[in-house]
Amino acid sequence: MSKIEMKTPLVEMDGDEMTRILWKMIKDELLLPFIDLKTEYYDLGLVHRNETNDQVTVDSANATMKYGVAVKCATITPNAARVEEYKLKEMYKSPNGTIRAMLDGTVFRAPISVKGIEPCVKNWKKPITLARHAYGDVYKNSEMKIEGPGKAELVFTDENGNETRELIHVFDGPGIIQGMHNTKKSIESFARCCFKYAVDTKQSLWFATKDTISKKYDHTFKDIFQEIYDAEFKADFEKLGIEYFYTLIDDAVARVMKAEGGFIWACKNYDGDVMSDMVSSACGSLAMMTSVLVSPSGVYEYEAAHGTVQRHYYKHLKGEETSTNSVATIFAWTGALRKRGELDGISGVCDFADKLEKATLSVIESGRMTKDLALITSLENVKILNSQDFIKEIRSELEKLLP
Ligand code: NAP
Ligand code: MG
Repeated sequence: MSKIEMKTPLVEMDGDEMTRILWKMIKDELLLPFIDLKTEYYDLGLVHRNETNDQVTVDSANATMKYGVAVKCATITPNAARVEEYKLKEMYKSPNGTIRAMLDGTVFRAPISVKGIEPCVKNWKKPITLARHAYGDVYKNSEMKIEGPGKAELVFTDENGNETRELIHVFDGPGIIQGMHNTKKSIESFARCCFKYAVDTKQSLWFATKDTISKKYDHTFKDIFQEIYDAEFKADFEKLGIEYFYTLIDDAVARVMKAEGGFIWACKNYDGDVMSDMVSSACGSLAMMTSVLVSPSGVYEYEAAHGTVQRHYYKHLKGEETSTNSVATIFAWTGALRKRGELDGISGVCDFADKLEKATLSVIESGRMTKDLALITSLENVKILNSQDFIKEIRSELEKLLP
């Protein structure tokens, strides 16, 4: 059998711990035997990040901007314990944070639907994709504790030294205050990423804020989305028969619970933090959730939504068997391959991605799965597989689907 040809390389970002082990198994068993895999390899494992003073992360983000599509393995975000464990020269920033800042992107997360793992919200028939704005608001705030009576004001000083003031509150006793911001540029990028992703995936887009209460702050989000929609995306949406729908955040939450899914829900930073955890836990498992970073210029980086699964890695190091779910990492590869195939006009690559996903899901649907899924499945007579055997079962299923 001849291997499927690729044209442009994918940017491959290797990572850490158990997901690094899965990464190699996936390549060896599910990709290299079937596809003439072209990648430009960057080792974002913590050891190599430390050797390069984290330059490798910056280089991988630059390569992503050059080629347009990347696939990333989960990586350790160092904390004090990791600095000690890996004898790090410094406590490097989160690679995802660095890459996101360079690509100016928005993260879209969607659960992977499979028969046997049903969301606990019964009417959710199709996945709900969550888009979270990743800049500003309460995540870049300033706060103060007020000890006693006095006046709190917002003060803006322009470049010429002119002040604008707005009264926050006249305190007659102790209290608290908070200041936060966002920028027009960041909100515009967020809006463009969301509209573009909706067009790419042919799904309607919902967006919600609390503009009735926050008449300047949240209302600006609403206005920017509407202006960009009208000027740049309305025609495309109408052609595809999808809609842009704005409503109040409380109305959106109520509607989401009653909807059947199949749309993108764009959220401000805090709403996205909270709602993505709600959607993912309602769908069962973080190991069944894909994540893609999309920049406003149309650059894509695919990854799993979970971390490096540290606890399983230490078992693996002790020679014990693990049953780590590789589905989200496999879908990161298929997402990237399909996008690469689309951009290069190579239908064979897209077709391979479709078949690998199909093979993965049919293994689960036949009752063969990793332990995390066995704990939540509605299927009976389930066979729990270890990390390696699960991937091997997918390989034999894939071989049946390929010519
Ligand atoms: P985690 O790696 O997502 O794992 C948390 C727990 O969730 C695991 O211990 C495991 O539960 C379960 N789990 C997650 N993925 C699984 C999978 N594929 N198969 C089976 N079970 C899975 O999160 P963490 O332990 O908080 O973080 C570990 C490291 O990952 C940290 O160093 C963190 O910085 C990094 N991290 C990276 C990313 C990223 O690169 N995008 C994201 C988050 C965290 P049981 O142990 O109960 O089996
Ligand atoms: Mg959260």
